[in-house]
Amino acid sequence: MAKSLSKDPLVYFIKFLIYLKEKSEKNLKSSALPVKTKECPSCAMEIDSKSTTCPICKYEFPKRAPWITWMAIFLVIIWLLSYVL
Ligand SMILES: [Zn+2]
Repeated sequence: MAKSLSKDPLVYFIKFLIYLKEKSEKNLKSSALPVKTKECPSCAMEIDSKSTTCPICKYEFPKRAPWITWMAIFLVIIWLLSYVL
């Protein structure tokens, strides 16, 4: 079984599909492993990007207030409407 000299293109196609499947599974596993990190501006340590406080120096990351974003979008819509109406 070591030397299968089959010229059937379907065999190669299936092998190619299996290769792609294995490759994508490996990619999924490898991409899942590295945790997203951010640098602490206080102690310059790589910490979890989701954490709001640095576990090393207890630096508190400033939270981006979501209402400011929504207010900006709202103002842009009002501004656009003033042109349309
Ligand atoms: Zn820190």
